[in-house]
Amino acid sequence: MVKKFGDNTVLDDLNFTVTKGERVTLIGPSGSGKTTILRLVMTLEELTGGYIHIGGTPLQYQEQGGKRVRISDKRRRRTTTDIGMVFQHFNLFPNMTVMENIIEAPVNVMGLKKAEAEAKAEALLDKVGMAWKKDARPNELSGGQQQRIAIARALAMDPEILLLDEVTSALDPELVGEVLAVLKDIAAETDISMLIVTHEMQFARDVSDRVMMFDQGSVIEEGLPDKIFSEPENQRTQDFLRAVL
Ligand code: ADP
Repeated sequence: MVKKFGDNTVLDDLNFTVTKGERVTLIGPSGSGKTTILRLVMTLEELTGGYIHIGGTPLQYQEQGGKRVRISDKRRRRTTTDIGMVFQHFNLFPNMTVMENIIEAPVNVMGLKKAEAEAKAEALLDKVGMAWKKDARPNELSGGQQQRIAIARALAMDPEILLLDEVTSALDPELVGEVLAVLKDIAAETDISMLIVTHEMQFARDVSDRVMMFDQGSVIEEGLPDKIFSEPENQRTQDFLRAVL
């Protein structure tokens, strides 16, 4: 994939695959293109070149007779329901209750019956320890609680892949643990693929199958978390980890 913002080439012919059930963490200095990758997968940004496929289905563009052809929005909407994203700033709908936040997409996008969506939402809220707040509104909740609800909302669509974009960066330090604990449980109990951008290196080490170190839009080193964190080979990886650990 290629992504430019004007003349600024942010991702230059980047090529990688996340296999089903795999947890891949992207690390690297600020501005190296990590968030842009997640936003491209979520189709919140438009690719400048190349392709992204989810489970064999192209997103945004497909190849037709050797040409790169934009795919219709209707089809794109269907395929993006396979992707769940959790953002740094929660992005819950402020005017809706917790329950309404979670059932919104299952009812309006997937066409689930309201009762069915609510039953599923209850189970997910239970999993993230938030069932007791189902009638609250986001502004009545702590950042950690809001983020746990955002995770439940992303899972409510049964995504094939969960994109986590610095989900603890906006939280007070004492609230980080509860969110990471929920994510570790989900990683342990499901086989959902995950593409993670985080500054929490211990979390990355605990949940990742593979860590990719980015610098200036390219992968400069990748491998098993133990290898990358304990014996990084690339000088820039060593410098980055020395600065953040
Ligand atoms: P990271 O997540 O690694 O910190 P980003 O993906 O946020 O990096 O940003 C990569 C580069 O893309 C940066 O140079 C940033 O300034 C640029 N960029 C990101 N979003 C936009 C945008 N909407 N418009 C212009 N430039 C952008």
